Amino acid sequence: MSRGKYWNEAFETAPRAEIEAKQLADLKVIARHAYANAPYYKRSFDAAGVKPEDIGSLKDLERFPFIDKKTQRDSQGVGSFLGELAAVPEEEVIFVSTSSGSTGVPTMSPFTRRDFDEWQDVESRLFWQAGMRPQDRYIHALNFSLYVGGPDVIGAQNLGALCIWGGTLPSERLIFILKEYKPTAIWTSPSYAWYLGDTAKKTGVDPKRDFNIKRIFVAGEMGGSIPATRKAIEELWGAKLYDFYGLSDIFGACAAMCEEHDGLHIAEDHILVETVDLDTGEILPPGERGELVYTTLRKHARPLIRFRTGDIGRFVTEKCACGRTLGRIYVDGRKDDMFIVSAVNVYPSDIEFVVRGLAGVTGEYLIRITEENFTAHYEVTIEKSHDNNEADESVAQRASAALKARIGVKPQRVVVLPDGSLERSTHKAKRVIDER
Ligand SMILES: [Zn+2]
Repeated sequence: MSRGKYWNEAFETAPRAEIEAKQLADLKVIARHAYANAPYYKRSFDAAGVKPEDIGSLKDLERFPFIDKKTQRDSQGVGSFLGELAAVPEEEVIFVSTSSGSTGVPTMSPFTRRDFDEWQDVESRLFWQAGMRPQDRYIHALNFSLYVGGPDVIGAQNLGALCIWGGTLPSERLIFILKEYKPTAIWTSPSYAWYLGDTAKKTGVDPKRDFNIKRIFVAGEMGGSIPATRKAIEELWGAKLYDFYGLSDIFGACAAMCEEHDGLHIAEDHILVETVDLDTGEILPPGERGELVYTTLRKHARPLIRFRTGDIGRFVTEKCACGRTLGRIYVDGRKDDMFIVSAVNVYPSDIEFVVRGLAGVTGEYLIRITEENFTAHYEVTIEKSHDNNEADESVAQRASAALKARIGVKPQRVVVLPDGSLERSTHKAKRVIDER
């Protein structure tokens, strides 16, 4: 099949009514499947007094109960190896991924053969959307062990790209491969993209001159959607950066940027998105910031119905300048990372937004949350660039004012250190210390 700008033009540019009609048809099927085959849903739907037959429109879903990470953990291994949320017998399952367990017991995500193939078709589509073509050489520099992002390389292969299964190589070997094999696209995390480019430079290798990377895909942290962070990485590598977003409970990537870099198109053929109020669980109008709630529309092995992701963001359905009508998400951070100062919700990603946009600093930062007299405060440590002769006090004042303007509440203190003082991290960076 010859493809143009889109992987699946008919679906990606369909009128909203058509996309939503397809979602409704699949929602009815998956709700019936879950109720009939997953003991958890039978119980929870009965307790809430709802039945799959009650779904006549997408809006009817709001009468159904939520689930969350805890539901998954509690039901795992209950009754059977796959647990009470699973809706198929184990012999139909061909793959399970396992979450990192960064916030508790690792949870696994099972796939049937069809689930797996459809997942990889979504990955191909997202890679295509981010500009990957069969003539690309692609290095998949993501962890392969247990992590749901590993198998995404199959989506790139199915697209026709030449794939190098990099995994988590030591930096010097990765730099060697980037120089010698000249891949044109790479997937890693924003922190690692920065670290790797910076490390290469320190050893006399210029990513712009000595590599041939045209596209960097990133996921796992907020950086890819923070304009100043994106720009800094793009300049370091001389490449375009595309933010990807996935959930270990669903797919390695569920959404990705297109060439417009304005939000991430989410796979609406597989995921129905709702945005709800953090405290009340009430549905918010499109475009408002809240907790993202997903219902998987086709995943047979373990359907997730109204899964509260803990991710905070917005969902918009206006047509994108790229021509796609598929909705876009803007993720601002994790509910768990948010902290409250003077009744204001503060997200570390907002602090990164400010620090990365500030002149005369390196962009590295560390946030410390403290408590005094039952009141929370935050303190931000930044680094002054080596070529900046400004007084530390003046840098601190600029940073403090910019933070107040963006977030609404001033930091208790801004600490300014010389270039190179903060630890450069690989992969998922730990940039928040909560001392409360
Ligand atoms: Zn677009």
